[in-house]
Amino acid sequence: MATKYDAVIIGGGHNGLVTACYLARANWKVLVLERRYIVGGACVSEETFPGYKVSTAAYVNSLFRPEIIRDLRLRDFGFDVYERDPSSFTPFDDGRYLMLGPDHDMCLREIAKFSVNDARRYPEYEKMLERVASVVEPTLIQVPPDVLHPGLGDLFRMAPMAKAARKLGPALGEAIEVLTGPARPILDRWFESEQLKGTLATDAIIGAFASPSMPGPAYVLFHHVMGETNGKRGVWCYVKGGMGGLTQALARSAVASGVEIRTDVEVERILVSDGQVSGVATKAGDEFHASRVASSVDCNLTFTKMLDPASLPQDFIDAIRRIDYSSASMKINVALDALPNFTACPGTTAGPQHHGTIHLCPDQDYIERGYDNAKYGEPSREPIVECTIPSAVDPTVAPPGKHLMSMFVQYAPYALKHGTWDERKDEFADRCFDVVERYAPGFKRSVNARQVLSPVDLERTFNLTGGNIFQGSMALHQLFAFRPVPGYAGYRTPVRGLYLCGAASHPGGGVMGAAGWNAARVMLNR
Ligand SMILES: Cc1cc2nc3c(=O)[nH]c(=O)nc-3n(C[C@H](O)[C@H](O)[C@H](O)COP(=O)(O)OP(=O)(O)OC[C@H]3O[C@@H](n4cnc5c(N)ncnc54)[C@H](O)[C@@H]3O)c2cc1C
Repeated sequence: MATKYDAVIIGGGHNGLVTACYLARANWKVLVLERRYIVGGACVSEETFPGYKVSTAAYVNSLFRPEIIRDLRLRDFGFDVYERDPSSFTPFDDGRYLMLGPDHDMCLREIAKFSVNDARRYPEYEKMLERVASVVEPTLIQVPPDVLHPGLGDLFRMAPMAKAARKLGPALGEAIEVLTGPARPILDRWFESEQLKGTLATDAIIGAFASPSMPGPAYVLFHHVMGETNGKRGVWCYVKGGMGGLTQALARSAVASGVEIRTDVEVERILVSDGQVSGVATKAGDEFHASRVASSVDCNLTFTKMLDPASLPQDFIDAIRRIDYSSASMKINVALDALPNFTACPGTTAGPQHHGTIHLCPDQDYIERGYDNAKYGEPSREPIVECTIPSAVDPTVAPPGKHLMSMFVQYAPYALKHGTWDERKDEFADRCFDVVERYAPGFKRSVNARQVLSPVDLERTFNLTGGNIFQGSMALHQLFAFRPVPGYAGYRTPVRGLYLCGAASHPGGGVMGAAGWNAARVMLNR
């Protein structure tokens, strides 16, 4: 006889685990089914190299909701963080560098090395972003309204946004530009030094298959003023033991609340009878029955693979098929025998240059050229490389004396014009290593082992359609009331009892836990 649960969660990524925890705390009998051998999804630590804790995909945190950390007592279950100060280091060919971080005075001194005018304007720029963030941030933990069939409740849900927008007053126009427009004209208007603009622009393009001069990426600009670490706004952190430190704590909290977690179980079909969900069937042929199922997997897989699309309303499935999964991100994890010794800021013991994100991208034109290659189906001739070295602050992620580097690389278009990623990824990884070597001679000699995850590998490993790191692009037409598709942003789906609880739904990608938490509240009718 098949076991019966109050809810089955498809996927044990951080959002699926958050949903499971909140449901179990309301005394629901909950089962989480995870396809991989380990929970965590794209927020995971793995022993890819012996003795290392590698954050295979996501590598830095600040967006995870503090309310969830408190509610689920994650610190009691082992969650801990290291603040990043400084948060970024950009070396340049002329031997100079730019360092930014939470220390305001340091930022101004650093920016003034390149432009005194920019240093004068920077505080006002940050205030502008904070004003926009103050409108956007409260919406992250809000269930978006149904814009197709608005009822009274939906109008109530829009009211706080309207109030916040009114508070912005004349700044509303600028806020709309940040939310919808390209990053480049904004940065060009505020600043004159390419060194500062290039560093800020790399933040804007993370995970997007777009250049800074295209509409959309500006939205990500203010991610760096959002979120918090230890109550400090805008401060990003490394999770102790890698990003899996968070999801392992979530899993412990879930189990303590009575959640059953099964790994190595792939859900193949969502079972439906008379328009009502009744459970799931696994690839191994098992069935688990429940009158509520929450999928933390992307919409393409949930609605076109696990369900029969013909059983869904045509306009809904058409909208699902329009979701943009394009991607051009690649991840390389590297085991190092030594820290990189940067020409612009020499040192082989851990220093401030190793603590934050190391941006290897001299200016905005460099990004544009990289994008130009990718839009024609070629990996960037000169890739934009963002490195982090968590072992410089967290001794638990690498064996003594060794180091771990994570490289987030753009642009690596999922659809190549020539060849396959399996054939070409090593040659492209070599090109990325050349970029690091240019700023830190000797780097290549210090490499002990590497894991290269092309967009196709990201798709295979994490079941992410198109290798899109956010389960669907974060362009404005796919955010808030339009995520995943208009009319279904409230975590419910056309199938009664079937919910969405992952990054495919509002507020989208990033390790926030908000989608999982919001979905749980909807399921619990709270
Ligand atoms: C390379 C990369 C780098 C990133 N860097 C950052 C970063 O530094 N900071 C940040 O905040 N965000 C980052 N992100 C984004 C962030 O990691 C994701 O948005 C977030 O982890 C999504 O969490 P989720 O729980 O919604 O979904 P996922 O993490 O995608 O979890 C879904 C889970 O479902 C499982 N699954 C899939 N199909 C099935 C099935 N059929 N049956 C059972 N289980 C299934 C998957 O194995 C997975 O565990 C990055 C993402 C990637 C890929």
